[in-house]
Amino acid sequence: MPHGTRHSSPVRAFIGGEWQELPKRETGPVFNPSRGEVIAEVPMCTKDDVDLAVESASSAFPAWRDTPPVERARVFFRYRQLIEENFDRICESVTREHGKTLAEARGSVYRGIENVEFACSIPTLLKGETLENFARGVDCETMLQPVGVCVGITPFNFPAMVPMWMFPLAIACGNTFVLKPSEKVPLSAVLIIELLEKAGLPKGVINVVHGRRECVDALLTHPKVKAISFVGSSPVAKQIYETGTRNGKRVQANGGAKNYVVVMPDADVTRTVEALSVAAFGCAGERCMAGSTAITVGKAADRVLPTLVEAARAIKVGPTDIAKSQPDMGPVITAQHRDRVIGLVETSEKQGAKVIADGRGVKIPDAPNGFFIGATIVDQVEDGMTIAREEVFGPVLNVMRMDDLDHAIEAANKSAYGNGAAIFTNSGKAAREFKNRVKAGMVGINIGVPATMAMFPFTGWDESFYGDLHIQGKEGVQFYTRQKVVSTRWFGNDVADVWKK
Ligand code: NAD
Repeated sequence: MPHGTRHSSPVRAFIGGEWQELPKRETGPVFNPSRGEVIAEVPMCTKDDVDLAVESASSAFPAWRDTPPVERARVFFRYRQLIEENFDRICESVTREHGKTLAEARGSVYRGIENVEFACSIPTLLKGETLENFARGVDCETMLQPVGVCVGITPFNFPAMVPMWMFPLAIACGNTFVLKPSEKVPLSAVLIIELLEKAGLPKGVINVVHGRRECVDALLTHPKVKAISFVGSSPVAKQIYETGTRNGKRVQANGGAKNYVVVMPDADVTRTVEALSVAAFGCAGERCMAGSTAITVGKAADRVLPTLVEAARAIKVGPTDIAKSQPDMGPVITAQHRDRVIGLVETSEKQGAKVIADGRGVKIPDAPNGFFIGATIVDQVEDGMTIAREEVFGPVLNVMRMDDLDHAIEAANKSAYGNGAAIFTNSGKAAREFKNRVKAGMVGINIGVPATMAMFPFTGWDESFYGDLHIQGKEGVQFYTRQKVVSTRWFGNDVADVWKK
């Protein structure tokens, strides 16, 4: 649909292998943030809708868990092919409902594809271990069995990728699944599940419901739900973890973040500025691995900041929904979110920080109602200022200045979060010190966004994660399976006698 066309279509749920419009439910608007226009209405599923979805997943479970892992993998080989064939459609959908550029959407959908590829190796990933003669004449083996009905609750900032962190691996492990995508961006989730259906998944193995808290609470308390994967803000992650575990479910809940990037005086200026600019302003800063605070050490501020300010001012902001004329950066998700981000920058100024690149007043004549903020840099941020510690989730880079690496690490480690941290330096010694001491689960050395790929766990620490087993990688397999240890002894022939013969 070309931009400018006003259109509002109902978003369907997928329950029991049927796409359903669910009329007479409360609905919420889905925006094209580049235009500030409503492009769809999403129904808020009720507890009854959730019951039907969970029942459908529960009924499909026995046959799916008994499907050989090689056959389950084949569904995901076909699925990977279908995603490749529909790649442009998916990326356009992500861009349209989220606002990120097409290049950013492509990158994120590729990260999703890697999760499908990881799920294709499930026959190898599910192999257990054996020990002969665990006790005399007794052998022991471990089996990894699926847990049952799993649930995924996802955020707005990666409409296709984050759901793909969850359902491919869960389903490949033999579980069935109910996905509750963000009500702000449900369209791409619907699209990728339509393709999963086409890949030949039996009815009921995947279900999609929509909504907010009522729908989520019904999932968290449903007795037939066994495991919950969540990605979103920390207060909600904590609440999901507490409610889910209190109701006897295993929970992995990724929360928000504030990621610190230390720039040493010996860092390569050009490449550091390039990487920092992408880390801070890529996806308009709306990612949990955004490098949102640069901690400059000693002379690094004088070396790096002038070029960084130039780079920020050169970032072209605009609507992302026209494939042929893509800007460098798109809008943020809603008008309220834009106002919150601007408010945080204003507060930092009142608290004594200096805005050295200011994107607050950006005007986009051909998209006057879009939710835009230009790239912004706030210098001389001190501990105690709101912006120093609160997640901004917008195109705003803070700068904190420190005298040495010890103080830089100390400043980074004061964060309540612990998702990512990075250092830019040419010194192996400084990098080694940093990677050992920094309090974050994912560390980049001369890499601004050290987000892990499908074969490694997404290892947030502290308030960036609630749970024990992280999303992705072997930890993901452990989360979606439970171990059975089987000890075997055979009676009949006397083994010792056989040996003697
Ligand atoms: P959010 O917490 O507002 O919403 C996430 C999901 O929870 C949505 O599906 C939403 O419908 C649901 N939800 C919201 N409030 C709820 C409530 N009170 N009870 C039950 N469910 C509720 O997050 P968001 O704004 O969509 O996403 C942005 C946040 O996600 C940021 O904080 C970002 O850092 C975080 N995030 C984290 C990671 C990670 O891996 N750590 C990845 C992406 C995004």
